[in-house]
Amino acid sequence: MSAQQRLQRVRERFSYRCGYCGVAEHEVGALLEIDHYRPLSAGGGEEFENLIYCCPACNRFKHDYWSEDESRRLLHPLLDDLSLHLQELEDGQLAALTPRGALHIELLHLNRASLVKLRQIRRANQQRRVRWLQIRTEILQLLHESLQEDTFLQEREERIIHLLQQVLALTDSD
Ligand SMILES: [Zn+2]
Repeated sequence: MSAQQRLQRVRERFSYRCGYCGVAEHEVGALLEIDHYRPLSAGGGEEFENLIYCCPACNRFKHDYWSEDESRRLLHPLLDDLSLHLQELEDGQLAALTPRGALHIELLHLNRASLVKLRQIRRANQQRRVRWLQIRTEILQLLHESLQEDTFLQEREERIIHLLQQVLALTDSD
């Protein structure tokens, strides 16, 4: 396997995102790097389970960290269940659910300002998408009802116009 094929396989395994902080290639504007979960200097190998697709910032913070004590190891993005150790809060901060989660957050600086900002933007986009789907469903329902009966038609049309104005406002804020 060539170095190019190896890189491609690692990118696919991690869905083109940093295994530690979740930032995507398209958000960084570049390819990410390959980290050895267990560093070569600590006896780690080149098998795929040991290769983590990783952004430059996480790679720098992680450096050659390794612990022989399993409870002091970083979380492995594919082999550990991250949801047991980490929880994202409403404000975009990452909270630890376990001591290992706390070590993971602290060592990788996973509450650095740019990551918290990115999580807040993703949350806002998600909420907008949900609102947009609700509005679309309501418009379709109202149109359906209007076709079936023409009483209160005027009132429904006004409601539809009001909703469409909200849709335009959502679109404008992109
Ligand atoms: Zn990262």
